[in-house]
Amino acid sequence: MERIETIDQLKTPCFIFDPLELERSVKGFQQALAKHFKRSIVGYSVKTNSLPACLKMACDMGCYAEVVSHDEYELAILCGCDKHRIIYNGPMKSKETFLEALSNGAIVNIETKRELEWLKELPTDKVFPVGIRLNVNISQVSPEDADGDNDNSRFGFSDETSEFSEAIKWIASLPNVELAGLHIHRTSHSRSIRFYKASVGFACQTIRKYSLNIDYLDVGGGYFGIFPNKPTYEAYSDAFHEVLKVYDLQDLQVLVEPGNGLVASCFAFLSEVLDVKHVEKDLWFVTTDGSRNDLDPFFRKGSYLNDIEYNYERGIVPKQVVGGCTCLEYDRMFTLENRPLLSVGDRIYYRNVGAYTLCLSPLFIRYLPNIYLKTDGAYRLVRSRWTAKEYVMNNMY
Ligand SMILES: *Cc1c(COP(=O)(O)O)cnc(C)c1O
Repeated sequence: MERIETIDQLKTPCFIFDPLELERSVKGFQQALAKHFKRSIVGYSVKTNSLPACLKMACDMGCYAEVVSHDEYELAILCGCDKHRIIYNGPMKSKETFLEALSNGAIVNIETKRELEWLKELPTDKVFPVGIRLNVNISQVSPEDADGDNDNSRFGFSDETSEFSEAIKWIASLPNVELAGLHIHRTSHSRSIRFYKASVGFACQTIRKYSLNIDYLDVGGGYFGIFPNKPTYEAYSDAFHEVLKVYDLQDLQVLVEPGNGLVASCFAFLSEVLDVKHVEKDLWFVTTDGSRNDLDPFFRKGSYLNDIEYNYERGIVPKQVVGGCTCLEYDRMFTLENRPLLSVGDRIYYRNVGAYTLCLSPLFIRYLPNIYLKTDGAYRLVRSRWTAKEYVMNNMY
């Protein structure tokens, strides 16, 4: 594979994947859990970054692939993840992959009633462990972490109605199925320790309320990664242990499914200035070959961590708005105030853009950009950009 020695030689726009950073976060979370728990699993949230090179590496580092659709299930297997090291969540399962996952020993957390029906189609000569997702209303469980006054959830079976108790009764009625785990994923805005203490406490109360004899608690995702002054992986693990111990449930196997907390810091994005326009007395518009579609497909980010590399020194100007290359007026990333004027060829390096970016980018005007892997100080292409040729794949015209 082609080796590129320096970052200046990379063709923009492109993502840069740093596997050492992935290793640091995966090992960091694994070790934090191992401090308290004899058995624990770090799941890699595939939807957060489904780049095959990254998913495969995470699996090689001991992560389970946490998938939330039949396509992601197949992607994980195609990328070389073991069939019994998959956590299968969410409503978008197919019956075929649901039954296949259970038959192969994957961890499957039931999300919908149709899955309860599908259980009847499992072979009867064996007992199949399954997990179930519990509905978590953050306003009730941890009001200080709630978004609005009713931070409810579309996911999981509710114990506020009879649906949770009916589901576990149904599972108990099947001789070849046993309830083995409880899943409680929610991402709170605060990502606080307080939230995890409250939600793990809620899970423990539910386990005790129904005298569930389960093997694992899947705490889900929603963690901070590596920001200074934010909770660490260890602080989250300490919190799980502290609460589980109160209920004498500290021997449960603990599963986590970090998305943001694992991959955000593993990717950077590099773009280059294409044009600079002076449009008002004190205002310049800078057009770059990146796009907000690459960096912020939800169009919600208020700021970007970035470094600017000027090719040569220019005078300071009052205001520059740095935008992307699409024809969308709102494709604007950030504003520079009283900084040197950018010029064609200058580069902008965006850090911490590995979560919910490249997997959510639309195929709008310009297709998927190159992705380079950073190794031994050099760079290697791990995804070649999509051109019109890839775009027309599977089309009939
Ligand atoms: C999205 C998701 C995650 C990852 O969430 P983050 O907030 O990125 O950590 C984990 N588990 C499930 C079930 C999810 O849907």
